[in-house]
Amino acid sequence: MILAQMFGSSALVWDGSQMVPAALGPKLKSKSRTRSSVLAVGDGVEVERDAEGALSIVSIAPRRTSLERAGGEGREPQVVAANAEQAVIVTSAAEPPFRPGLVDRWALLAHRGGISPMLCLNKMDLATRDEAERMIADAAIPLPYVLVSAKTDSGIPELKETLRGITSVLVGHSGVGKSSLLRRIIPEEQIVTGALSEKSGKGRHTTSSARLYSLPEGGLVIDTPGVRSVALGGTISTSEVASVFPEIQDAPPCRFSSCTHRMEPGCSVLAGVQAGAIPENVYARYRKLLLEVIAP
Ligand code: GDP
Ligand code: ZN
Repeated sequence: MILAQMFGSSALVWDGSQMVPAALGPKLKSKSRTRSSVLAVGDGVEVERDAEGALSIVSIAPRRTSLERAGGEGREPQVVAANAEQAVIVTSAAEPPFRPGLVDRWALLAHRGGISPMLCLNKMDLATRDEAERMIADAAIPLPYVLVSAKTDSGIPELKETLRGITSVLVGHSGVGKSSLLRRIIPEEQIVTGALSEKSGKGRHTTSSARLYSLPEGGLVIDTPGVRSVALGGTISTSEVASVFPEIQDAPPCRFSSCTHRMEPGCSVLAGVQAGAIPENVYARYRKLLLEVIAP
C-alpha cells in the first residue's frame, strides 16, 4: 500500500483501488515523534490488520526517489514526497511572470532525488503559444513541457497524458495556479473525501501536508500544498547544480576536476561562455544557483 496522507499519527493509505484509514504502528509512532521524515507521502508501507479490523502501518519500504528540502538551521531535510518518478514544475506564463530561476531550483531538487523534472506552463489564456515557446527557448529550459490553462482547459488532456500510469509530484510557487490545475485533473470526490478526513483527523498535521491522489486514467499524483518555496542547502555539490544545465554539465572537462566554473584557470565552461557556446543567461543562472547553494 502507499501512504497517501498523514494527520498526526493517523493516515490514509492507497490500496490500489481506494483510500483506507490506517494508524501508525507503535514503533513508527515513537520514531516519528523524534524524526520528521520517518514517513513521507508516497512511501510504500506494509500494514497489519488487528482483531477489530483496524489497519496499522508497521513498516516502510526503502525509498526509490525522494523530493527533499533543506530543513533549516540544524534540522534534518524534509522529505516532501517519496517514490515519485516525475516532478511537474508548475509555473505560469503571466501573473506571476515566468521565472526561469525558480524552475532551476525545483529541477535541482528533482535531479538530486532521482526524479525526472518537467515543466507545466499554466495560464496560457494570458499568452500566445508563440510567446510561451519563445520564453522557454530564450531561457534555454532543457525540460519537456506542456502548455496549459486551468481556466480554459486547453492543454489539460496533454498534461493528463504525461501523468498517466506513473507517480508524479506537483510543485510550484504560490499563485501559479497549481490548486486550480489539480481540480482539473483529480475527480472532485477525492478532493472532498480528503477534506473530510482532515477535519476528523486528530492531532497536528505533519510538516509537509502533502497528499496523494489517484487518477482515473491510472497513475498517482502527489500534491505539496504546504511547500511554496524551494529550500536549498545542506550538501548540494557543484556537479549537482551543473546537472540542471546540460550546456554546463556536458562541457569538456576543466583543468581542475573540482572546478566550480567561476574563476578557475583552464575552465572549459568559462571558455564556452566566451566563445558563445554556452548562453550567457544560462551561465548567469548557474552562478546564481551555485551561490545560493554555497551560501544559502
Ligand atoms: P496556487 O497558489 O498555485 O495554488 O494557485 P491557485 O490555483 O490558487 O490560483 C491563483 C490565481 O490564479 C487564482 O486567482 C486563479 O483563479 C488564477 N488562475 C489559476 N489558473 C489560471 C489560468 O489558467 N488562467 C488564469 N488567467 N488564471 C488562473
Ligand atoms: Zn570549470
